Amino acid sequence: MLQQWLPAELLRLPKLTILSLCPNPFLPLENHTRRRQVFAQPVCSLAEIATRQLLADGKWTDPCHEGHAILPCGLKERLGQVSLVNICEQCKKQYASSSVQDFIWQTVKGTHDIAVRYRFCSIQCSNILHAKLMSADNS
Ligand SMILES: [Zn+2]
Repeated sequence: MLQQWLPAELLRLPKLTILSLCPNPFLPLENHTRRRQVFAQPVCSLAEIATRQLLADGKWTDPCHEGHAILPCGLKERLGQVSLVNICEQCKKQYASSSVQDFIWQTVKGTHDIAVRYRFCSIQCSNILHAKLMSADNS
């Protein structure tokens, strides 16, 4: 199945110099006045809140951590699924599952109207980055 957007995580790769985007293989921009689509979970689950708290502590991703024995299996599984790409695009905090997916059609490496998917820990982080991108486009 063809991926319909460019993951923003790809744009963070420091050595990325060549990216073939022509012709644009992603979702076309259908309505030129609406360059952003936001999909947000209204409420973060208790499991996700607990996982983020453990991730913020920094020690719990190590399965040999002494406290792992007392963690519920569901939390151990969630911690095991977190990878380096599970980072909020704005505040850089880790999560197991993002609360917001933000699709923004923007210019990438000189190609216009590329659908880029950003993931965030919260709608506040999404709005901050969106405002930065819009001010960068207008300057
Ligand atoms: Zn965030």
